[in-house]
Amino acid sequence: MNKPERIVFATGNKDKVREIQEIMEGFDIPVISMKEAGIDIDVEENGKTFEENALIKAKAVWDISGGLVLSDDSGLEIDALNKEPGILSARYLGHDTSYHEKNANLIERLNGVPDEKRTARFVCAVAAIFPDGSEKVVRGVMEGRIGYEEKGENGFGYDPIFILPKYEKTTAELPAEVKNEESHRGKALRMIREEIGKVIEF
Ligand code: IMP
Repeated sequence: MNKPERIVFATGNKDKVREIQEIMEGFDIPVISMKEAGIDIDVEENGKTFEENALIKAKAVWDISGGLVLSDDSGLEIDALNKEPGILSARYLGHDTSYHEKNANLIERLNGVPDEKRTARFVCAVAAIFPDGSEKVVRGVMEGRIGYEEKGENGFGYDPIFILPKYEKTTAELPAEVKNEESHRGKALRMIREEIGKVIEF
């Protein structure tokens, strides 16, 4: 397939665009947000899996822009809570509830659950739709466990309660570069980079 002029990332989140730009360096192709591509749509994420939701978003943008479109969907799965909050991670307890409250609530629900049963993972699906309309979805995972209190100031969302066993620290206590090396999103983005490289000549 010929090299497209740009990659459109179906997100309004600047941090995500920056992360994918860094990972796509060397491909010599600009990565822009859907806003920068002049696309302003609100897509209902009504899929049942991270993969479905990533594809739904990517497809909605691709229908407008064509070319090469990427999209991600991510969240936290806690085993002892039947994999909640899962695909509803951003919406858990309502969009307007602070992460401080969401985190406190999850810790409360795990009251009495011992370390070995506090296993959890961050999951990230990244979907690509290619210029010819073909699709590819990959999944990156970071395994860990839920702590007993919030710790650390870095990161966002559920980072303060997610302990990465390799460092025995929460992902909010780790510098961004370390988290990106290990993270579900970093892994998924590197996987999709490889998939794109197989299909498109750079
Ligand atoms: P998305 O932007 O629809 O993928 O929403 C993902 C949601 O999952 C975020 O709003 C966070 O609640 C949670 N999440 C995903 N990745 C991370 C992470 O790396 N750290 C903390 N929370 C995360």
